[in-house]
Amino acid sequence: MSNVTVRRVRKSFGPVEVIHGVDIDIADGEFVVLVGPSGCGKSTLLRMIAGLESITKGAILVGDKIVNHLPPSQRDIAMVFQNYALYPHMKVKDNMAFALRLRGMDAREVSQRVERAAEILGLTPFLDRYPRQLSGGQRQRVAMGRAIVRDPQVFLFDEPLSNLDAKLRVQMRTEIKELHQRLKTTTVYVTHDQVEAMTMADRIVVMQDGRVEQIGEPLEVFDRPANLFVAGFIGSPS
Ligand code: ADP
Ligand code: MG
Repeated sequence: MSNVTVRRVRKSFGPVEVIHGVDIDIADGEFVVLVGPSGCGKSTLLRMIAGLESITKGAILVGDKIVNHLPPSQRDIAMVFQNYALYPHMKVKDNMAFALRLRGMDAREVSQRVERAAEILGLTPFLDRYPRQLSGGQRQRVAMGRAIVRDPQVFLFDEPLSNLDAKLRVQMRTEIKELHQRLKTTTVYVTHDQVEAMTMADRIVVMQDGRVEQIGEPLEVFDRPANLFVAGFIGSPS
């Protein structure tokens, strides 16, 4: 695990600036949730941390190292997406092993990592199945498994539960938190759902229109919102 620093980061798409100077310090092993309405820049920020978008101004550090110009594969970061595209023609175990094989890891180490991740996620009985033979929740676990096997310094989640039904969503929140308690990997988790943010975060980062409105522990933000936007957003039913 590692700390992540976002320092005066700006992002423009063409002439339009969408992230207007964001500062966030994420501690080693911390679970930070970026929350805010649709279009406020959560995914763009996460994609800059992952290396999937360039950084227009400012810097992003993982540990002490500026990663601005490193490609995603050299950042030691694993990302779980909303549309967890599993490879349909590959068994669960091969979906999880794929990125490791691509990196040339030896077969024994690959299968040990896959087995361990499957054990952590309760996927051991499903390793020989194909994605279409799994439920939505199981598929989401496979997507997380693909991230876990890489044993990254940082996990990034972009609305990983938004395609699941309400009951499963609540269950998966607990599972992701348990996973974090077990692995203690630094995590940046994006959601537009304030209840999800409040229940999962060590600290939440409330964003609006490409700016950070407030950073703090959930109860602190709830009790002492920095402004009317935060009060309205956190206080409204999801
Ligand atoms: P969120 O994830 O909070 O919903 P996004 O980061 O997806 O927000 O988007 C932030 C802003 O950046 C939005 O106004 C969106 O339209 C714009 N945006 C995102 N990606 C692109 C892109 N590739 N080209 C142009 N504008 C983009
Ligand atoms: Mg988004």
